[in-house]
Amino acid sequence: MFSIKKWRNGQKWTNWCENYTAYPSQFYAPNTIEELCEIVKQHAYEKRTIRVTGAAHSFSPVAMPEQTALSLHNMRGLISVQKDDYTATFHAGTYLYEVGPMLAQYGLALSNMGDIQQQTLAGAISTGTHGTGISLGSFSSMVLRWGIVTGEGEYIEIERTTDAISEALHLSVGLLGIVVTVVLKVVPLYSLAYVSERSNLQSEVKNFQSEIRNHRNIEWFYFPGSEHIQVKKMKAVAPIDQPKWEKYVEQAKIQALENGLFYVASELCKYKPSQSLAISRLASKVVGQESRTGKSYEIYPSPRNVKFVETEYAIPLSHFESCIEEVHAMFKSGKFHVHFPIEIRTTAGEQGYLSPTQGQESAFIAFHMYKGMDESIYFTWIRQMMKRYGGRPHWGKVNHYSKNNIEEFYGNASLFNEQRKLMDPQNVFLTTYFKNIFDE
Ligand SMILES: Cc1cc2nc3c(=O)[nH]c(=O)nc-3n(C[C@H](O)[C@H](O)[C@H](O)COP(=O)(O)OP(=O)(O)OC[C@H]3O[C@@H](n4cnc5c(N)ncnc54)[C@H](O)[C@@H]3O)c2cc1C
Repeated sequence: MFSIKKWRNGQKWTNWCENYTAYPSQFYAPNTIEELCEIVKQHAYEKRTIRVTGAAHSFSPVAMPEQTALSLHNMRGLISVQKDDYTATFHAGTYLYEVGPMLAQYGLALSNMGDIQQQTLAGAISTGTHGTGISLGSFSSMVLRWGIVTGEGEYIEIERTTDAISEALHLSVGLLGIVVTVVLKVVPLYSLAYVSERSNLQSEVKNFQSEIRNHRNIEWFYFPGSEHIQVKKMKAVAPIDQPKWEKYVEQAKIQALENGLFYVASELCKYKPSQSLAISRLASKVVGQESRTGKSYEIYPSPRNVKFVETEYAIPLSHFESCIEEVHAMFKSGKFHVHFPIEIRTTAGEQGYLSPTQGQESAFIAFHMYKGMDESIYFTWIRQMMKRYGGRPHWGKVNHYSKNNIEEFYGNASLFNEQRKLMDPQNVFLTTYFKNIFDE
């Protein structure tokens, strides 16, 4: 995994699941906006590329540097809060695990979070990282103002409106500039009452459309080929702390079951892939009833130590049932050997030229493969199936965006590229992966 402590000029860069590596010749970790502006100006002059790496937790090459790698590791922290307006200004390099406790000191919190908290704010915002909840948006939707260093090395601040630059900045995968500060819309501090239970697949699919409206946060883990499914529900309650002993027991349980035992099962599947469905069905049977209540930023994320590669698609809510039935039928036929559960979440629709939701309330369906097992044919099948359901891949996960298909996914891709060219006329941020998607 990317670690600033280990990273030096000319050394290997790799992302979390190590499906991409690079050897950038230069590495910068500036301390000030002025320093950062100078670095960008120099690169624009020399026509060299820069890529900002957050925590390198993307499964696609969006953060992969070529000539120069840059990290905002030294530009982190909370700058100010405006409690009456429920807004908070952060240095964009702040890690998510730092954000919760910082906001809590002021009685504030993020409205939603995803599965983990290792990412940086800028990284999460730049790829549309999301949690679950049909009334809730992604990290990108929390931003009210961006402070950004353009491709010409100028620092500017842009207030979110409905204009073209806001639509482009909403989800910009580092192509419009280096985001250095963000003003976020936040909410009063809250805790979450969390319940996990085992349920029947068919009844959950039948009740999907009502259940997503009955719960603030609800998600499902579908075990390949199994008739049982895990449901996780969360309800916002007044801020209370989870007792320390309970936290300790909880963490120990997660480490033992979700990481330790699951690691052993995954190694077994790697060695004998034909056992995958049997292991998946067994795992679905041992899901027990669980509950806990604690501060939201302690309940949303959990440690993910078993490495995998992932692809995730947003589809219109109305297609969910037929899509999951097709996935279930495929697994029952034994077509692929997969033991990793499939995660089902929802989000509100968001504007933004590159938002996978394209303004529609969406179901996000995420498919994983254990690191070291070949995911290519499985992911190709998913890609072809998702075309029929209007699925758009998450930018931070395995996707096959290219010049040939970007307009099919995003009708406003050319408007995004117009803004990109205005913000970065020398293509300082246009690495090879992006050159294959957007015209210079
Ligand atoms: C174990 C695991 C669990 C995950 N869980 C979820 C989840 O629950 N929900 C979800 O939606 N996603 C999830 N993801 C995906 C992850 O949230 C995204 O890929 C996210 O972008 C990673 O953040 P990062 O800080 O590591 O950014 P990176 O991966 O380093 O970078 C992502 C993009 O942001 C750009 N960028 C970074 N910093 C800046 C900056 N300052 N200015 C401009 N551009 C910048 C990079 O250039 C790149 O294009 C998960 C990933 C992993 C590995």
